[in-house]
Order: sequence, then structure tokens, then C-alpha cells
Amino acid sequence: MDFSLTKEQQMIKEMVRDFAEKEIAPYAAKWDEEAYFPREVFRKMGELGLLGLPFPESYGGAGGDTISYAIAVEEIGRACGGTGLSYAAAVSLGASPIYYFGSEEQKQTWLVPMAKGETLGAFGLTEPNAGSDAGGTRTTAVLDGDEYVINGEKCWITNAQYARQVIVTAVTGKDARGKNIITALIVPTDSPGFTIRSNYDKMGVRASNTCELVFENVRVPKENVLGDPQKGFKQFLYTLDGGRISIAALAVGIAQAAFEKALQYAKERVQFGQSISKFQAIQFKLADMAMEIELARNMVYKAAWLKDQGKPFTKEASFAKLFASEMGFRVCNQAIQIHGGYGYMKEYGVERHLRDIKLMEIGEGTSEIQRLVIARQLGC
Ligand SMILES: Cc1cc2nc3c(=O)[nH]c(=O)nc-3n(C[C@H](O)[C@H](O)[C@H](O)COP(=O)(O)OP(=O)(O)OC[C@H]3O[C@@H](n4cnc5c(N)ncnc54)[C@H](O)[C@@H]3O)c2cc1C
Repeated sequence: MDFSLTKEQQMIKEMVRDFAEKEIAPYAAKWDEEAYFPREVFRKMGELGLLGLPFPESYGGAGGDTISYAIAVEEIGRACGGTGLSYAAAVSLGASPIYYFGSEEQKQTWLVPMAKGETLGAFGLTEPNAGSDAGGTRTTAVLDGDEYVINGEKCWITNAQYARQVIVTAVTGKDARGKNIITALIVPTDSPGFTIRSNYDKMGVRASNTCELVFENVRVPKENVLGDPQKGFKQFLYTLDGGRISIAALAVGIAQAAFEKALQYAKERVQFGQSISKFQAIQFKLADMAMEIELARNMVYKAAWLKDQGKPFTKEASFAKLFASEMGFRVCNQAIQIHGGYGYMKEYGVERHLRDIKLMEIGEGTSEIQRLVIARQLGC
């Protein structure tokens, strides 16, 4: 397989890099410091077609492929990890499930405005007592006439405070084996009884909006069920497979930013009468960092390519997510090491990358869960 980018993919890379360097990177440290979600930047991304990048033009999208979308996530993440996370969550978690499983009417109502960048969406799966074990969801949705009544709680939901609607997973019954039946419902954020709070003080990705959701007798029409009401569990597994490609791309972008800073610093910093980049110990670190980033990027492209071809990509998405996130942590850590004491200071901007990248080993399935997914794919 030839991984050289097509003309369109190359154009998207240049366009997003240019945008991110002008509109995001100069403000990333401030947004991190103030935990500020740059809503206005998402409007501009919408105007550029980035929020609908992988969706067809008939749904307000740009008709791009998954590789182009991964490139966009990488470039935004290179400028700001938090903005990159919110971008990836808006597309992969907020909009994609409606594209994959929504009815035509749901697509027109919810997907089109998201793809055009007019609205944002969120995806509420995780609960205080159901993280990796998402099947242990406790939120319930009970059918009452033509409406579902939702009660429960979700935690750490990206973008919810700025979203028009959240896709919420809830238990709607038990199957023949006594296991929870999980259903996905589209819940408008202005529904009575729906409370959204954003009080978390995060270690990293601080420009990303992260919320707690509380549902107290929230009523939604049964037309708001997304896809097959019996198959909410399967649907979110598929959604997360796609999301993992974007988290891997984000890890590559954050690692790339840390690497570039380390390379430049190594050339400038003089110790023992020469630039530290002349020391083999530093050269070998930089060589390993460059190689590992490139390897992770290729893994992202391969998983994205498989998805675009309509081939199975679960294993490759987990490979990419696991490798890229752990690689990214190593690279960001070494970038600080190359900066020495200056790297430990906020002023140099490398410590932010380490704080941001840590989330990549946790969100959308921890590293441990990725290993379980891969082992299952190997037939274990
Ligand atoms: C900033 C941020 C944004 C997020 N955004 C969203 C979002 O938009 N939507 C959403 O639904 N969720 C979101 N999440 C939640 C995220 O997906 C979960 O944090 C993640 O899935 C892990 O769940 P948990 O934190 O409950 O950890 P737990 O599941 O409690 O895991 C704790 C530890 O135990 C390990 N562990 C658990 N089970 C096993 C096992 N079977 N074998 C081996 N090890 C195991 C884990 O790997 C981990 O190391 C977000 C989280 C954060 C921090």
C-alpha cells in the first residue's frame, strides 16, 4: 500500500496547518492556563468545512475521507491538544454516530447543522460507575407512551456544555440472558430536567470542555432513539473504533509539536562549548522520537484507509490508538528531558504537551482496554 498523500489530502494538510498556526497555536498556552474553550474557533472551523470533513456533501459535509480527517485532527492537535480533543470528539463522537446509524430525518435535523459547523454534538457513555465497563451503564430510559423518560448521570463528557444535543446511552431492558439492553438516544441539551455542569479542574487538554450530565425525568420522543434500540452497545463499540483513529491522530499531532520544540531547542542550547544536538545521547533521543512519530502516523493512515475501504479496522484502530498514545507519552517526556530545567517551566510550552498527551492513554478506551480488544481480535 502506498501511503503518499493524494493531492486533496496534501491540500487539507496545508490548509489546516495554516489555519491552526494562525488561529490556534498562538493562544494555546492561554487557553490551557484559563481552561478556556474557544467556541469561536469552532465556528471558523465550520466555515472551512472541517466539522463536516468526513461526511458527504448531501449532509452538509465536505466529502473527505477518513485519512483527510485524521490529518486535520493531527494538525489541530499539533497546535493545541485540548482544541484537538474537542474537534475529534465533535466529529467522531458527536456527529458520526448519527451519520452511521441515524434515520434520514435525524440526519437532516441533527447531522446537517453539525457538519456545517453551526452546532456541536456530544456523546455521553461514561458514568461514575461505568467507565471501561460501559455495559454496566446505570442510566435508564423507560418508555412512557410515546416518550422515553431518562434518569441517571454521566461524567467527563466532551463538549456537552456547547452542544445542541447529546447522544446518551441508557438501559432500556434486559435480554433473554438477563444482560442489560442498551439504547442510544438523542437528547436535546435544553430538555427540562437535563443539567450540564463543567466544574472539572483537569491536568491537561484544558481547552477542551468536559462535563458532568444529570438526567432527572428527562423526556424525549421515541423518534429520538438512534439506530436499533436493541443494539446501542454494538453501535457505541463501532463508534469508538472510529474514534480511536482520531485519538491516535491527536497523539501524533501532540507528539509532533513536542518533537519540533525539542529539535529546535537542541540545536540552540549550548553546553560544553557546543550545541547539545551534537551530543550523541541527544541525537539518539531525537532519532527515536522522529521514527516513532512516523510509525504511529503510518498506523493511523492504515486504520483510516481500511475504514474508508469498508474493511474491518477494529484491530488496526486499537493498534494505532495504543501505540500512538504510549509513543506520544514517551516523546513528550523526552522533549522535556532535552529541554532540561527549562522544559519543566511553563514558559517553554513543552510540559503542556506531556499533560495533554496523558489523556490519550485513557480516553476512548484505556491502554489496558486496547490490549484486551487486540487480544480478542487475535482470537484469545
Ligand atoms: C478529559 C476526558 C474526556 C472524556 N470524554 C468523554 C466523552 O466525551 N464521552 C464519554 O462517554 N466518555 C468520555 N471520557 C471518559 C473516558 O472514556 C473514560 O475515562 C475511560 O473510558 C476509562 O474509564 P474510567 O475512567 O472509568 O476508568 P476505569 O474503567 O475505572 O479504569 C481504571 C483503571 O482500571 C483499568 N481497567 C479497567 N477494566 C480493566 C480490565 N478489564 N482489564 C484490565 N484493566 C482494566 C483501566 O485500564 C484503568 O487503568 C472522557 C474522559 C476524560 C478524562
